[in-house]
Amino acid sequence: MIEPNRQGEVWVFAEQEDGSLHDVSLELCGKARELADRLGVPTGAVLPGWEVGPLAKRLIAQGIDNVYLVDDRRLAHYQTGSYAQVLRSLIQKHRPQIVVYGATPMGRDLAPRVASNLLAGLTADCTDLEISDVTDPKTKTPHKNLLLQIRPAFGGNIVATIVNFDRWPQMATVREGVMALRDPDDSRTGQIVAEQIEIDQDSLALKLIQRHIEPRKVNLKGARVIVAGGGGVGSKDHFGLVHELAGAIGGAVGASRAAVDGGYVGKEHQIGQTGTTVRPALYIAVAISGAIQHRAGMEESAKIIAINSDPDAPIFSVAHYGIVGDFKKVVPMLVKAIKEK
Ligand code: FAD
Repeated sequence: MIEPNRQGEVWVFAEQEDGSLHDVSLELCGKARELADRLGVPTGAVLPGWEVGPLAKRLIAQGIDNVYLVDDRRLAHYQTGSYAQVLRSLIQKHRPQIVVYGATPMGRDLAPRVASNLLAGLTADCTDLEISDVTDPKTKTPHKNLLLQIRPAFGGNIVATIVNFDRWPQMATVREGVMALRDPDDSRTGQIVAEQIEIDQDSLALKLIQRHIEPRKVNLKGARVIVAGGGGVGSKDHFGLVHELAGAIGGAVGASRAAVDGGYVGKEHQIGQTGTTVRPALYIAVAISGAIQHRAGMEESAKIIAINSDPDAPIFSVAHYGIVGDFKKVVPMLVKAIKEK
């Protein structure tokens, strides 16, 4: 177990693949900066990989003070054991007080291994992080400046705040797209700390023989406009209208879980708690009721237009503009109006 270190840094696991940093790591750098400023401590990022040194500058521009660079040919491809060993060794050496990971497939695989190695706590899939004083309800002991790890629980029906009194570092994985990506500041300066970690042969149990990468066909996170269809669309054929509107307006196609479960569109289009979190400039929700689990993934959109035949549908409570009507009539009218312009 690691003793609490109140002066410890706030760390981000800098996830990269083939020399590109994952967006969520860059988003987390901004959040780490905010938490560290609140605590009055520096930020750090752990950057394992091979020939990844040039990425350190980008992390610094995003708000990191110290980049712990572990450049080792054996870390060229992610493996749970070797990456966990890097994180564990560096955490034991530098004793950060907080470590955050993206809730990506890699982060979800790595963070629990590190947590169990260090007997530390871990909250998965957070949607917000804050710092606050908390009193342990059992022992009545007051604790200063703990990390509040905030995430939906019980199917999204409540928002739970989880704190970790005595198992340090405080660790969390954070959903992609929920923290705002800050503009990089290339004038920022920071330190690149080259680290060498003993890597056990046992932790490199896998040998990569061949890799086949399927390019992503849907880019919801990068879309400025999203037209999403819901269960009320009723069929795969009718979902064609959602594609048509998205095509006319130059947007990406999103969906609620009901539309995905109904087989109208693939799972990669799902938006919400168990899908992608988006914050486009414009979100058009077509025949989506606006269940809390869907709203969790889209309510930060800059402008929301909802089309729904039920004037009491919850989606209207987050929409900036609402159209009450049958989407089969409304969508063709919108497509026509857009095309005429
Ligand atoms: P419905 O609930 O079927 O609503 C259809 C809407 O369409 C209604 O409001 C209706 O008035 C309207 N409508 C019907 N006909 C028309 C018409 N002709 N014209 C206009 N409007 C019409 N959901 C997600 O979306 N994303 C998630 O990531 C997600 N994760 C979940 C995780 C958990 C753990 C759980 C328990 C649930 C999750 N859900 C998620 C499911 C969520 O609770 C809802 O069931 C789902 O969002 C409902 O989708 P919907 O609003 O499209 O469909």
